[in-house]
Amino acid sequence: MNNKTKKYTNNFISQIINKDVNDNENLSLKTRFPPEPNGYLHIGHAKSICLNFELAQLYNGKCNLRFDDTNPLKENIKYISAIKNDINWLGYKWHNIHYSSEYFPKLYKYAKELIKKGLAYVDQLTKEQIREYRGTLKQPGINSPYRNRTIQENIKLFKKMKRGDFSEGEASLRAKIDMKSAFIVMRDPVIYRIIFSEHHQTKKKWCIYPMYDFAHCISDAIEGITHSLCTLEFQDNKSLYNWILKNTSVKKYPQQYEFSRLNLEFCILSKRKLSILIDKKLITGWNDPRIPTLSGLRRKGYTPSSIKNFCEKIGITKQDNLIEFSMLEHCIRKELNKTSIRTMAILEPIKIFLYNLDKNHEEKFTVPNHPNNPELGTHEIIFTNIIYIDRLDFKEKYNKKYKKLKLGGEIRLRYAYVIKAEKIEKDENNNIVKIICYCDLNTLGKKTKNNKNPSVIHWISVKNSFPAEFRLYDHLFNIKNPEKEKNFLSYINPKSLIIKNGFIEKNIEKNIEKNIEKNIGENFFQFERIGYFCIDNIDSKKDKLVFNRTVSLRDLWNLKK
Ligand code: ATP
Ligand code: MG
Repeated sequence: MNNKTKKYTNNFISQIINKDVNDNENLSLKTRFPPEPNGYLHIGHAKSICLNFELAQLYNGKCNLRFDDTNPLKENIKYISAIKNDINWLGYKWHNIHYSSEYFPKLYKYAKELIKKGLAYVDQLTKEQIREYRGTLKQPGINSPYRNRTIQENIKLFKKMKRGDFSEGEASLRAKIDMKSAFIVMRDPVIYRIIFSEHHQTKKKWCIYPMYDFAHCISDAIEGITHSLCTLEFQDNKSLYNWILKNTSVKKYPQQYEFSRLNLEFCILSKRKLSILIDKKLITGWNDPRIPTLSGLRRKGYTPSSIKNFCEKIGITKQDNLIEFSMLEHCIRKELNKTSIRTMAILEPIKIFLYNLDKNHEEKFTVPNHPNNPELGTHEIIFTNIIYIDRLDFKEKYNKKYKKLKLGGEIRLRYAYVIKAEKIEKDENNNIVKIICYCDLNTLGKKTKNNKNPSVIHWISVKNSFPAEFRLYDHLFNIKNPEKEKNFLSYINPKSLIIKNGFIEKNIEKNIEKNIEKNIGENFFQFERIGYFCIDNIDSKKDKLVFNRTVSLRDLWNLKK
């Protein structure tokens, strides 16, 4: 067992599995990940994916991918390929791929079995009436007037439902359990409804569709799932899960266990709400780097290992909590700190003229790609008489604490010389357009004459610059728990995306091009003093590259601990 999977042995679910395996040496663990293809996967799904796949690996078992596709109204084939792609990206291999819709014929047979046992009936109350009759937590439910139909009548009516002789909402099949049960789910739950909509897998074959609760447990049983892991909101449904398995002739008896779902600060993790954001054009799509979908996080520069580490770190419990966003950032920062190439980028350029240098002055410096990992190699930078620095590194008005460049002040250019600002030029709007400086050529790798050690700033020679757009992301919501708010849309952060237009080093651009050609897709950089960035493969153009800021340099999570 390697260290990676070790963490998954420490939770209450693996303890249950341990005991089961010890009690029954023939037990072969089988889990499944059952997404509904009604949206893209998000980091919450990753928690469940990691748990199911890692446990299967750990116990030499198997994990299936099952599309829980019982509602043709909400599902779409495009989500199926996106989901498969994301699971592959995380590096997991499913044993088999299944669809709940494969089991429609079997599910229909089991539904008839319930009717024949007097345990299901065709109801003709409307959806609203069913809800009304169901009662509340304080009030028991009331029996439907159709509850005591004969078995023959129910069989006939269920066939009629299947044939399409009823209209939508006119009839449904309900399990006959107990309208007074303390669990509302047990108050004669609907198990089949009529939907006249083409299904992405079964096309027009069916107009009756099983409900989640009916389909899920039977699908688990058909596939021989031993441990069916789901989130806490299904705790009450467990009684129904077990009731259906007990009262049908399925051969296997899976056990359901619940763990708490992931809630992440500043994030929405509901596919329904995420699609509202997309429909209202508040974000650009399922892969917008501001949302915690796996495709959004990938585009933002998160790696599979950073996401898996995060999922290990948060652990598996029954405790409902809100995880700090800085913890997710900590996981990617830790990794990028080791792997990303250091280079300089200017987000808000301002030109510096070094008046004492010749127009043709050109020096080359070889600089390391990483401060402590020589294996990452070096790259060359060029020094000439006109360079860009960041507007934020020069101030006309400043206080005592100010340490960067000012008129009459000195600063060191990273890997190069100390310069002194002597004059500024402004445009008609009073914006500084040019800073004229003296370059002290005696300061390469040495202190200045007066033995001072000025602060260091980054820079790029105009000749060595390539245009780039920088996308700086902040949280999409300005409150910690937007998921809790009914009107979550009113908490959108208007500054969730800030775009800057500047420059990167030209030779880095050449590298990126090579990588893209060789299909080494990932290009991760630490732009010195600014943060970790990755190239946006979707919006980058040949003459202008786009970079997404993955995460800033400061590790708030580490600071707190
Ligand atoms: P959403 O509310 O985002 O639509 P869902 O539960 O409806 O989520 P499914 O596609 O049905 O989405 O979920 C597939 C699996 O992923 C389920 O087993 C579910 O419990 C799990 N899952 C979904 N969201 C989370 C989460 N936030 N944390 C952990 N597991 C989750
Ligand atoms: Mg769902």
